[in-house]
Amino acid sequence: MPGGTDQTLRPFLWRSERFYPDTEIVSRTADGIARYTYSEYADRVRRLASALDAAGITAGDRVATFCWNHHRHFEVYFAAVTMGAQLHTINPLLPVDHVRHIINEADDRVVLVDPSLLEALEPAVESLASNPVEQFVVMGETAPETELDPVTDYESFIGSHDPAFDWPAVSEDQPAGLCYTSGTTGKPKGVEYTQQMLWTHTMATQSPQGIPIADDDVVMPIVPMFHVNAWGIPFSATAGGAKHVYPGPSPDPEDIAQLIEEENVTLSAGVPTVWLGLQEYVREHEVDLSSLDRVVVGGSAAPESMIEWFGGHGVEVLHAWGMTEMTPIGTVSHLKHDLEDESKETRIDKRSKQGLLVPGLEFRVIDDAGEQVPWDGEAFGELLVRGPWVTTEYFARPDATEEEFADGWLKTGDVVTVDPDGYVEIVDRTKDVIKSGGEWISSVELENVIMGHDAVEEATVIGVEHDRWQERPIAFVVTGDDEGTIESEVLAVLDEQFPKWWLPDDVVFIEEVPKTATGKFAKRVLREQYTDASVFDGEPPEEAAPDSE
Ligand code: ADP
Repeated sequence: MPGGTDQTLRPFLWRSERFYPDTEIVSRTADGIARYTYSEYADRVRRLASALDAAGITAGDRVATFCWNHHRHFEVYFAAVTMGAQLHTINPLLPVDHVRHIINEADDRVVLVDPSLLEALEPAVESLASNPVEQFVVMGETAPETELDPVTDYESFIGSHDPAFDWPAVSEDQPAGLCYTSGTTGKPKGVEYTQQMLWTHTMATQSPQGIPIADDDVVMPIVPMFHVNAWGIPFSATAGGAKHVYPGPSPDPEDIAQLIEEENVTLSAGVPTVWLGLQEYVREHEVDLSSLDRVVVGGSAAPESMIEWFGGHGVEVLHAWGMTEMTPIGTVSHLKHDLEDESKETRIDKRSKQGLLVPGLEFRVIDDAGEQVPWDGEAFGELLVRGPWVTTEYFARPDATEEEFADGWLKTGDVVTVDPDGYVEIVDRTKDVIKSGGEWISSVELENVIMGHDAVEEATVIGVEHDRWQERPIAFVVTGDDEGTIESEVLAVLDEQFPKWWLPDDVVFIEEVPKTATGKFAKRVLREQYTDASVFDGEPPEEAAPDSE
């Protein structure tokens, strides 16, 4: 092999231990803040690998976690991967039958579980027809009462094991990770990550056009570690030698604000809902955000108002788009250098797009006729991507369909435009696009503008069936203010920016937008509840689509 060694994660661990032995790893736990150094971390990682080895885990075996973001979970990240096993992070917020399906299909041999999540895991394990799990390990110093069997606690499990564990040779083609998409449609599908996919993803995100992390950074991933390896941040922060901060189980805005202040966090990452919560908290409380330099927002679109709000606090928003199938980062909205002197409006407009493809990937945008669309910021089509960290198949499903993959390209299911500068903007999911009278309305664009209203806490727009127009948009809004006033103000702003027939037929006020297990707005749930536009009081404008009928 010309390059000398394979592309595996072991060198990242080696580098941080040798170069930054005293850099800290901090973790919020039920008992308070836990804190140690990379040097202690690396010792514990080897003890865990040795314990797993003694439990019979070898190359290709799957080690599952059912955990929040904390230091022990981070230990499993490097131990499982570096010993050549496969880190399988399970989303504990999934329904029981999904968890059962996942454990069964993945054939997990060991499951490490948080004490607070035992109740969510037990019914899934109990209902397995045949249980592949040979050892449950409860994250902590003691194992509470549980139906899981055999069970031990984490500290006893790694306790007497050897911190001098010798890492075996591992090849870059070996599976190293596994993560299931949260299954917004149908059963969750597994995506397997090889060593090479994790390595190339780490190196690309470490580049200046990605989400570069350096040794003076203090990095706090709020995006759960069960969701696509917390966007790869535990790996890239280690590669960069940064201090890590893990926010523990279900951090609320107060916990997040406190950790930023006390640990001097410079970079954090999470879905927009997390940041909306922080924004609201900061409005009402004295919070020092001065250490914060960059915030990665992804998973759903970052509203312009959020980018401006962070900008006002001296924080750069790195708006990122990706998918479980892409390990997950695909684009980041960096401002190209020749756009830096453009007006504030143009700069915010660019930053609020999903951004530029990170180096190493390629994309195409294909319309309904299978033709590539021009880069004019107007024409839209489905986004297809390919590259070293983009999967070309689903785990245990050799029967991948043409809806999912085409000639080595991943069909993302995202409908996008590309502007002349190359910025990709997601205008919808293929399944969320609203078709009114045969013409297309972007639910995402409507949502962005509604969310820009100061008194709107959450907003989403779905298409509901309509006798005459096939589908019409309905907006769902969460606010603490007077609903009548908000409705007329929101409709007035939309009226200024969009054609009449794009305006929602109704604005429905709800307590909370239902969320998926990964904190995204669950449009499917609303669609099921509101199946028919005739229930709404609003009348569609006479002209519900321009050239229809
Ligand atoms: P799930 O499949 O469970 O929703 P993923 O994280 O794999 O989990 O979801 C990927 C999808 O999330 C993308 O295809 C896209 O629709 C959406 N998405 C991710 N990031 C963004 C973003 N920055 N803006 C808009 N949508 C996004």
